[in-house]
Amino acid sequence: MANPLILDGEALSKKIYEDLIARVSAIVARTARTPALATILVGDNPASVTYVKMKGRRCRNVGMDSRKIELPGAAATADVIAAIEACNRDPDVHGILLQHPVPKQVDERACFNAIDFRKDVDGVTYLSYARTAMNEMLLGCATPLGIMNLLDHYNIPLEGREAVVVGRSPILGKPMAAMLLNRNATVTVCHSKTRDLPEVVRRADIVVGAVGKPKFIKGDWIKEGAVVVDAGYNPGNVGDVDLEAAAPRSSAYTPVPGGVGPMCIATLIAQTVQAAEAALRV
Ligand code: NAP
Repeated sequence: MANPLILDGEALSKKIYEDLIARVSAIVARTARTPALATILVGDNPASVTYVKMKGRRCRNVGMDSRKIELPGAAATADVIAAIEACNRDPDVHGILLQHPVPKQVDERACFNAIDFRKDVDGVTYLSYARTAMNEMLLGCATPLGIMNLLDHYNIPLEGREAVVVGRSPILGKPMAAMLLNRNATVTVCHSKTRDLPEVVRRADIVVGAVGKPKFIKGDWIKEGAVVVDAGYNPGNVGDVDLEAAAPRSSAYTPVPGGVGPMCIATLIAQTVQAAEAALRV
């Protein structure tokens, strides 16, 4: 299609941060307390180190505190859970982020579930997922919620439309599917055992690529006029969709970088402010 709409997550995230600056200063003025996000990093995976730094910087930019907890790469599940429980007890911590992925010996699911649901600003606990699936979301999974906010900002209609989510991970594909279903899209979730994936994707009015394989979703899988959301983020700033070929067929698409990535972090920070407002009764 001529001139597809660019779903600009970078621009929308800037607006979100402007709004958060005002909300954070209102919290500080009313309670003399500063909202704080605790980030827990296990090991020194370079990508994770960068993500945690970006999240800390974003917190400070809106006037929040960020607390960095670093555990060695050899940490055991019990060590990570102990760090999470200390954050759960700390009234000056309003949000907790355990940076994914953790080293192999750590039971990530057990660690995620140790997060107090009121501080689960990345939306990774069983309870947060269950609430989302039941359409009673309190704090949502940050990346899919960021995608929903981006689609809403650009008034992309969802009701009654065919949505195909490629990927079913607990922190992206599954909650994404639940959120689209809550908005009355007709949702298909694909995975590594899906038969004839290109044909399934060709049915979609809205495609979400959440596979973790560079340029995996090809341009000729995209129906003319579909909305393409590329949640993938692979080395070299490459998404999971072959955007060069897919974007011209789409009516709207998220660029990589500058689409889903900035929305994910903005949503995490926004949910920390929301959690602080709830905890401090602002
Ligand atoms: P993941 O846990 O590795 O899950 C990948 C999913 O893709 C799995 O469900 C897998 O299916 C499916 N898959 C793999 N090969 C496939 C194939 N040949 N055909 C169809 N499906 C296939 O990955 P993730 O954590 O969800 O991340 C996915 C992507 O999103 C990555 O590029 C990641 O970097 C990106 N991401 C971005 C953000 C952001 O803020 N921008 C945040 C989170 C993730 P099975 O279940 O059958 O194995």
